[in-house]
Amino acid sequence: MINKVAITGGTHGNELTGVYLIKKWQEQPNLVHRENFETLLIHTNPKAIKACRRYIDKDLNRSFQTTQLNEEHDHYEAKRAYELNTMLGPKGSKNPKVDFIVDLHSTTANMGLSLVVSSQSSLTWDAVRYLCAKEPKLHVYRWMGDEEDAFVDSIAPHGFAIEVGAIPQGVLRANLFTQTAQLIYHLLDFIQRYNKHKNIPTNQNPIEIYDHVKLLDYPRDANGDITAMVHEQRQDRDYQKITKGDPLFYTLAEKTIYYEEEEPLYPLFINEAAYYEKGFAMCLTRKITLT
Ligand SMILES: [Zn+2]
Repeated sequence: MINKVAITGGTHGNELTGVYLIKKWQEQPNLVHRENFETLLIHTNPKAIKACRRYIDKDLNRSFQTTQLNEEHDHYEAKRAYELNTMLGPKGSKNPKVDFIVDLHSTTANMGLSLVVSSQSSLTWDAVRYLCAKEPKLHVYRWMGDEEDAFVDSIAPHGFAIEVGAIPQGVLRANLFTQTAQLIYHLLDFIQRYNKHKNIPTNQNPIEIYDHVKLLDYPRDANGDITAMVHEQRQDRDYQKITKGDPLFYTLAEKTIYYEEEEPLYPLFINEAAYYEKGFAMCLTRKITLT
């Protein structure tokens, strides 16, 4: 039984889709009200939202490792992570305060409507399958990573993040705003049916997902400055296969750098603005079918 669902937005303060969806639903709570569970609406990073910045001191969406949550910190986001974990978790608990978290993000990459899933819970994956059936344009990026999952949604036993783009930082786009809202309504309908133990019209067909393989950085000089940009023939082609010999980067010296890996992979988050400081130009994924 799912008793409480938290919809969270503004984890990155300059990703306005989530910030304003939360505001919209706070003003029209009937849209996210369902009969057999409670829906909480939370702005996770109020200071960053006010400043319209990704974060104040550090990335909140990388602040939920269990070890970090148990230590004292001076950083604003670390304190906020502690508060959110107390309010919604605690992480790993058998009796967490919320059962499902969906965290709203946007990206400057041309990701369309995407889910980023790190949870292994079967309920989470039933929800993913349901949403794929409802929304054929939806892409699913599975990030299991080798580090502990430190995302906001990791506080609850079930959940994922929604990433939509391309949207510049600090900007709202009506089409993606509306599509994100619709995805949330489908998710809430799914949870309502799950709670009623009725037949969940889960997608029994295999679904295609994109499994994280590795992060790819820009070419850099000895000082760490980038020396190339994403090649124009790769820009905006998220979820499209890249094969050995395809143009990848374009250097300041006007040279093309080609993709060298033997295995064709699928780049995501291509040229995401927030990832320049993190040191990667895109994520490389493998397309697999889940039966
Ligand atoms: Zn984000």
